[in-house]
Amino acid sequence: MKILMASSEAVPFAKTGGLADAVSALSLSLAKLGHEIAVVMPRFYSVDRLRLNRLEGAMGVPVGDGEVWCAVYKTALPGSTAKNPVTVYFIDHEIFFGREGIYGTPSEPDFLDNPRRFAFFSRAVFQLCRKISWYPDILHAHDWPSALVPVFLKYGERRGGFAHTKSVLTIHNLGYQGIYSKDNFPFLSLPWNIFYEAGFEDWNMMNFLKAGINSADKLNTVSPHYAEETKTQAHGFRLDTVLRYRSGDYLGILNGIDTDLWNPAHDLTIPKPYDVKDMSGKAQAKEALQKEFGLPIEPNIPLIGMISRLTEQKGVGELFGPGYGSAYSFCKNMKLQFVILGSGETWCEHEIMSLSSRLPNFAAKVGYNESLSHLIEAGSDFFLMPSRYEPCGLNQMYSLTYGTLPIVRRTGGLADTVENYNQDTGSGTGFMFDDLSPSAIYNTVGWAIWAYYNRKQHIEDMQTRGMKTDFSWKKSAGTYAAMYESLTKEH
Ligand code: ADP
Repeated sequence: MKILMASSEAVPFAKTGGLADAVSALSLSLAKLGHEIAVVMPRFYSVDRLRLNRLEGAMGVPVGDGEVWCAVYKTALPGSTAKNPVTVYFIDHEIFFGREGIYGTPSEPDFLDNPRRFAFFSRAVFQLCRKISWYPDILHAHDWPSALVPVFLKYGERRGGFAHTKSVLTIHNLGYQGIYSKDNFPFLSLPWNIFYEAGFEDWNMMNFLKAGINSADKLNTVSPHYAEETKTQAHGFRLDTVLRYRSGDYLGILNGIDTDLWNPAHDLTIPKPYDVKDMSGKAQAKEALQKEFGLPIEPNIPLIGMISRLTEQKGVGELFGPGYGSAYSFCKNMKLQFVILGSGETWCEHEIMSLSSRLPNFAAKVGYNESLSHLIEAGSDFFLMPSRYEPCGLNQMYSLTYGTLPIVRRTGGLADTVENYNQDTGSGTGFMFDDLSPSAIYNTVGWAIWAYYNRKQHIEDMQTRGMKTDFSWKKSAGTYAAMYESLTKEH
């Protein structure tokens, strides 16, 4: 099958979160299964044109009542091979994408022209196929920035080379929907009746994701548990009714992880690789981690790690909220160490640095640091993810692979990938709680620390179980391929 992934992010070119990892890893896995895969994304300022190959000629994209001209570049997706190639196409337009930031900057988190930038990008996807005379069986869109791809396909583009093309929309995070003033609607070059028919209308605003959900031939999100949660009022971000309406076409497919990059047996960013049979490398990583964060070097003190965007979604309010967050009290009252790497909301960045200066067993680093994130996964005993919601979550899977036991809230993909500890039988792979409250986090951290000091064998068994679990993309890619096949069989 020919599949074109339309995404605003793909590693290593542009990344703000798990979406970027998922798009590239899924593409590589599908290519290995023998499918013909290409990715199309905007050429953001950070992607160096000199490393790409330019396609000859300019490309006109119909928007509004005119046309916007752009260039197209391409390169091979790193990790792909001549036998299983994945080509990445870049839509290059100086005014829309030649700036710092993917969706915004710290001072302007959501660029004012985002509806136009991503409407242009989504329309350009069709022009690209025409330009290279390559018409996919499946157009696979990801999240709100490319959610107009299924809309354009359904309302106007399903003709010529696209006559039999089907669309899939994957929701990586329902919290971001792309809601903008409907004044932007004429830029989409769609008649106004489609504004209502495709379900753009959202309290007199224009909702990209809602229209995408209504228009895609099949939908999925990135874990079975999150698929169920999003159909409820509590987690549906006001789109639960639309998702319930489409529930016959809506699946939950768990993301995998890149097991070449995240594998303690071959990880060159940690002091010494390790595996289930010889865990000495993990002890060395712990020492290096304590050194890196300036904590006392003690092999027998439980070390909790965390790597996170510092946003409400990740439960940072309940953890670090000044005066009520639980981190201060569990660091104060328990014999443990806690390290965190993250960036995000300013109040939280300030708070973790302030806690760092006040607590001898807590250390924080603000920023984004890929190699340090590997050391945290390898060197920690526990990994904390008290997420409010988590569509899939990658860090708990990295943790399990590195023999680091997750302490997580039972939500979304966390509920699908972590099995709660049973202290009577010793079964499980991590520690779970249900309420998102400072006391639930405090108590569950306490439970994990208790097990560390009093149930050594259970901890070791849980580590082994986690490290032996297969989180590779192979299985998920097979499920995606089956979904595509069910669609192409429809005509
Ligand atoms: P989300 O996509 O909601 O941020 P995920 O767990 O799905 O959460 O994916 C986050 C990815 O980004 C992981 O690979 C994680 O390690 C990485 N990450 C997040 N913050 C940082 C950081 N400050 N430094 C390095 N990696 C980070």
